[in-house]
Amino acid sequence: MNKALRPAVIAGNWKMNKTPSETVALINEMKPLVADATCDVVLCVPFVDLAPAVQAAAGSNIKIGAQNVHFEKSGAFTGEISADMLKEVGAEYVIIGHSERRTYFGETDVTVNKRTLAALNAGLKVIVCVGEYLEQREQGITRELVSMQTKIALGGVTPEQLKQVIIAYEPVWAIGTGKTATAQQANEVNAAIRGAVAELYGQAAADGLTIQYGGSMNAGNAEELLAQPDVDGGLIGGASLKAKDFSIIVQAASK
Ligand code: PEP
Repeated sequence: MNKALRPAVIAGNWKMNKTPSETVALINEMKPLVADATCDVVLCVPFVDLAPAVQAAAGSNIKIGAQNVHFEKSGAFTGEISADMLKEVGAEYVIIGHSERRTYFGETDVTVNKRTLAALNAGLKVIVCVGEYLEQREQGITRELVSMQTKIALGGVTPEQLKQVIIAYEPVWAIGTGKTATAQQANEVNAAIRGAVAELYGQAAADGLTIQYGGSMNAGNAEELLAQPDVDGGLIGGASLKAKDFSIIVQAASK
């Protein structure tokens, strides 16, 4: 596997943290710390923080993303946000199918696919999350499960659109728990995801796909995880709320 074929991407997922003014302060703190990155740097912030985040990040190498998107273009969907709205406010990325959305908000593989198509059709880049629960890992079905989640998410996505897709492998048992997959476990599953994408789009397209690992990645373990041949970046929760820690992860991906 040749990592040079695909961009390394470090994305922060701030979850439901930071008010608009706190967002501006944290981005201003991060900007000089990540200015020399050779990887792509993305911060996915709460909806109300998008506009101030875009403004604070302007002129820097930090790109801004959202954490969810609705699949309809407009209409009677109280409380939802469309892909066109995200695009117009200056978001470039959107996380889709995070395990917290799947676990707490009824997200399914089918709605993940609908959101993926809506976001891509609006010109957004997507970070599609897949991953297994601990029971599923113990059953030995991780690779089949994440391959299936990936294939369903990509239904109807054209080869051209695939270039705007990032897959984030996030074992649910590792998210926010301090338990990290070993570098070998992360690499094995990322390789399985790449294999599933190769079945759909061919090996060249799969080799060009950025596949992140996420789940308690932090300043201490990032280097080992990111050195794996199939780990092309990280989706970072807790550690993306601390400028210094996040910048150390960005530096590890910039080597
Ligand atoms: C996440 O929210 O996607 C995540 C990986 O969280 P954490 O890094 O806190 O485990």
